[in-house]
Amino acid sequence: MRPLRVGVLGLQGAVSEHLSSTSRAMKKLGMRGEVVWVSRREHLEGLEGLILPGGESTTIGRLLLSTGLLERIREEARNGLPLLGTCAGLILLASEGDEEVRRTGQPLLGLMDMKVIRNAFGRQRESFEADVRVEGLRGGPFRGVFIRAPVVERVWGEARVVAELEGRIVGVRQGKRLAFSFHPELTPDTRIHEYFLELCRGGRPTGTSLS
Ligand code: GLN
Repeated sequence: MRPLRVGVLGLQGAVSEHLSSTSRAMKKLGMRGEVVWVSRREHLEGLEGLILPGGESTTIGRLLLSTGLLERIREEARNGLPLLGTCAGLILLASEGDEEVRRTGQPLLGLMDMKVIRNAFGRQRESFEADVRVEGLRGGPFRGVFIRAPVVERVWGEARVVAELEGRIVGVRQGKRLAFSFHPELTPDTRIHEYFLELCRGGRPTGTSLS
């Protein structure tokens, strides 16, 4: 099988952890491939998947705009590029934000039919770990690391809830786009990365648009 080329958006945030989790997941699956750091438009060339890491969504959003990556990622996604967003990455994928997002006008990619609430767990629970059941993942619950995590208030259209914690939505799938509130790259468990790589290996749909 041909090698797979997957990128991690590296403008700010938990980038190197995603690079290494993705490489480990490739090895586990016995897939040949490479994982590349994406910070400029040209880096999207030839990618078969892109990961949007956690960090500060306001900063990442601003940098996406100034580098011209915002528009290019939207285009690539519409052409079927699979995307995985974690934490701030989930926020960026949403098509609707909360009051704060609206007020500050922070740029979003708007690629998933969902409304997000930033820092939804409040000050007392800024960071915590919890077991999360993720639909489509075999082998029991996933240990979620939540750091100033967002939740999804609601989904519509093509978006499907794949993970919930205490009745709040923390995982969504829309076709080849996946988003989680927590940080799978901060645990040794690579199942979420494996799940994403399987989606990427499925190839880009030809002649169809996901959005
Ligand atoms: N609180 C951050 C934001 O709103 C997200 C936190 C994270 O990615 N760990 O962008």
